[in-house]
Amino acid sequence: MFSPSEVLGDDGPFREHIDGFAPRIQQQQMADAVARAIACQGRLICEAGTGVGKTFAYLVPALMSGRKTIVSTGTKNLQDQLFSKDVPLVRNALGSGAKTALLKGRANYLCPQRLELAEEQLESVSLRPSLNMIRNWSRRTRRGDVAEITDLPEDSPLWPLVTSTADNCLGTECPKIEDCFVLQARRDAQAADLVVINHHLLFAD
Ligand code: SF4
Repeated sequence: MFSPSEVLGDDGPFREHIDGFAPRIQQQQMADAVARAIACQGRLICEAGTGVGKTFAYLVPALMSGRKTIVSTGTKNLQDQLFSKDVPLVRNALGSGAKTALLKGRANYLCPQRLELAEEQLESVSLRPSLNMIRNWSRRTRRGDVAEITDLPEDSPLWPLVTSTADNCLGTECPKIEDCFVLQARRDAQAADLVVINHHLLFAD
């Protein structure tokens, strides 16, 4: 069985499976350091320059460890990129069957209950087309992540009307609880081996 540094080395699977992958000694050293920290449940602070390949250096030992791992990023854009690009690449190169999940704060998920209310109560004629667009998207989205709608600005007055807060969520009383994207994302995260979150969520809960 390969060690993390061997996976990232000259004869490892990354060279074979990832186009343009070039082994780097600093990346291999970091990967083994992360693996040791995981194995002894220690703490590790790592700093490495641009181009070292830090993302692979922590994802490889994390996925190889078989332990539950939470990866937190500084921004939601980085979070999306890590989850949709880097994690699948590493998973595939390792041949790993690890379950992965993306988890954001509740304001990032469509609330089907509040969408229905907004459709009944919205008075602004100018916002109707955008609300219709959200409704159409709601029928095909799997995760309900509002980042999937790129045509509507982040500061649109519609978002607070169709997402929830801890105060306005109906919880167990909600008639749409079976379709709730927030609960689905939290369930997926609980069942996953590797969860990608962001610092805002990490420090909030
Ligand atoms: S449980 Fe809360 S967040 Fe989920 S659909 Fe109902 S009101 Fe919205």
